[in-house]
Amino acid sequence: MNCKNCDGDSFVQATDYINLRPLDKKTGFGSEKVYTVCMDCGEVMSIKIMNPEKLK
Ligand SMILES: [Zn+2]
Repeated sequence: MNCKNCDGDSFVQATDYINLRPLDKKTGFGSEKVYTVCMDCGEVMSIKIMNPEKLK
């Protein structure tokens, strides 16, 4: 995998500890997001949810 912005290949995974929650369940716990960030330019390559099943 290479960065689509600068073609670098160093990445770090990071989270903002803010849970993504389902729109229709405001009380739902949700799941933290994991960002894959380019170490060279800061481009966010992908955002994943740690526990997709928690959005059900
Ligand atoms: Zn980059």
